[in-house]
Amino acid sequence: MLIPIETCTRCPALVANRQRIVRGYGDPRARLMVVGEAPGYRGADRSGVPFTGDRSGRRLQALLIALGLSQESDPAVETPRIRDVWLTNVVRCNPPRNRNPTAAEVANCVPYLRAELEMIRPAIVATLGNFAARWAFGELLGTEPPAGIRQLHGQTWPAGDQTLVTLVHPARASNAQMAVAEKTLRKLLT
Ligand code: SF4
Repeated sequence: MLIPIETCTRCPALVANRQRIVRGYGDPRARLMVVGEAPGYRGADRSGVPFTGDRSGRRLQALLIALGLSQESDPAVETPRIRDVWLTNVVRCNPPRNRNPTAAEVANCVPYLRAELEMIRPAIVATLGNFAARWAFGELLGTEPPAGIRQLHGQTWPAGDQTLVTLVHPARASNAQMAVAEKTLRKLLT
């Protein structure tokens, strides 16, 4: 049985480090679910909202504004009014020094992500970075990603009545890669 997330202490190192548990955020009837890796120390771990408060958050929020999925004009807003999109992460607590989550921590937190996926039932699942791509390939396609995220960036993968989109994380994406992300998502949302 899934432990209520408010009291989750499954990952001792993350429990000792986190400022808060960062839950998913956005429109529960969204067509698009965006899945990142983990709350960032200067970003969501402080603000409490995925993809806000730090550089990668601002880049993601700017993308949502460009796609017409946010009512904000300033990508620095930390409780953005967004619609048709749900923001979440593979793990919900900030790892020490923003390190990668371990396989055990990912396994601990994936049931919450799976529950979100079942609740939202998005038509499009966009993953940011290798960890999220690896989760989505396993969850939606029952396989491993065929390459690293730089090779998979901007590619789409049919998964039943859903479409998986694999993208480089905004923390590491070039401007050209962000433009590809916008073009790919715009096409899917039209
Ligand atoms: S990362 Fe997920 S599973 Fe681990 S303590 Fe936080 S909420 Fe619980």
